[in-house]
Amino acid sequence: MKIYNSLSLSKEEFKPLEEGKVKMYVCGPTVYNFIHIGNARPMIFFDTVRRYFEYKGYDVNFVSNFTDVDDKIIKAANEEGVAPEVISERYIKECKQDMAGMNIRPATTHPQATKEIDGMIEMISTLIEKGHAYAAADGTVYFRVKSFPGYGKLSHKDMDALMSGFREIKVTGEEGKEDPNDFVLWKPKKEGEPYWESPWCQGRPGWHIECSVMSKKYLGEQIDIHGGGEDLIFPHHENEIAQSEAASGKTFSNYWMHNAFLNIDNKKMSKSLGNFFTVRDISEKYDLQVLRFFMLSAHYRSPLNFSADLMEAAKNGLTRIVTSVQRLNELEAKAQEGPADQAVLDKFEELKKKYEAAMDDDFNTADAISALFEMVKLANIEINETSSKATVKAVYDMMEKFCYILGIITEKKEESLDAEVEALIVQRQEARKNKDFAKADEIRDRLQAMGIILKDTREGVKWERA
Ligand code: AMP
Ligand code: ZN
Repeated sequence: MKIYNSLSLSKEEFKPLEEGKVKMYVCGPTVYNFIHIGNARPMIFFDTVRRYFEYKGYDVNFVSNFTDVDDKIIKAANEEGVAPEVISERYIKECKQDMAGMNIRPATTHPQATKEIDGMIEMISTLIEKGHAYAAADGTVYFRVKSFPGYGKLSHKDMDALMSGFREIKVTGEEGKEDPNDFVLWKPKKEGEPYWESPWCQGRPGWHIECSVMSKKYLGEQIDIHGGGEDLIFPHHENEIAQSEAASGKTFSNYWMHNAFLNIDNKKMSKSLGNFFTVRDISEKYDLQVLRFFMLSAHYRSPLNFSADLMEAAKNGLTRIVTSVQRLNELEAKAQEGPADQAVLDKFEELKKKYEAAMDDDFNTADAISALFEMVKLANIEINETSSKATVKAVYDMMEKFCYILGIITEKKEESLDAEVEALIVQRQEARKNKDFAKADEIRDRLQAMGIILKDTREGVKWERA
């Protein structure tokens, strides 16, 4: 398997640290609102990476964090007059619901920054002991960028030029910095902000330290793959490398993978341009399966443009695949026993190789989807009522597996609808238990709009279609 490594700017053969295992960390969202469709791109892509590694027989330990302490969360909490954890817990829950809609499997572990403060204090202390960090007079702790010779290796920035360019610049509030490139590991509390005790001051961590700490705790000092959107290369990932490698003295991650951005109608998505969509917005118009399929229809390192036309095309393509696989499933149930038709299976074997070659080549999901469409075409021509059970089963199993890797659900819609209804009923019960009647009513109305009628019975809530 070849992976494009942002460190070397080239495709490299994947060699795991430990035979048969993949340790992978992907930076997750800051939970201050519903996730937007840009956030969904790395989630969908890295879920697919995980699924493909598993298909290849690897045991994948996949960690993805929720950043639950941040200026935006504090701002949202102050605006609503609630504690920051009310905001972060709410949007973690909503994010998980969106993930389920996009058929993104939960990671092995989803750590949260606020629950890992001890580990952060420990790593910052180590960095200070080793001379890689220092506390300023006001209690702010900075990473000493000059103490880490590898700084800039991921973002390929010329640090000498950066340093000389910045030499004269002093930013208000950062007078304690030895060097303008030094970055914050720990900062003093401000009025109305959450804080924790530390050896330096009551305060809270800078953003970058959480990923170094959580990655180390759940995966070890060295990992195979670290991922995220390309905007994270600098400074976030560059700083993660500096922190982790300065603390451990070892290479942090062997491969760095970054997805390109999602744009809207060829423009950057932004609230001020009025072209900002949350995943929840999209779910009102489309099955989120369509959004997932749309995202995978381009290579992850190519910028992707979101538009209504492209979503319609994705919807039609997805339907074509799902219909074909469902037809195979029905044919299999009715098919007669008999030997497999090797000539037909050989043709599918060629397409299987094509699919695997695409995925082996830096997870080229666009080409893998093309191979899947060729399979659909072939299955629609070659497989029919006269095909033997062995033939239909072999083709169905192959296509179903390839759909699973891309996260395409091939089961009948009815069944997945049932699961969605049941999930909503559980949420409604929970809302009632918490005396959140507005939310409970809102869920009942949503179910009603789906044609579902609820009945409270002695055995609990039952439902039926209207
Ligand atoms: P944030 O919550 O801003 O830290 O972002 C969470 C993840 O979403 C990061 O991996 C970002 O790189 C990624 N991301 C944010 N905006 C976009 C976008 N428009 N396209 C693709 N990825 C994005
Ligand atoms: Zn991170």
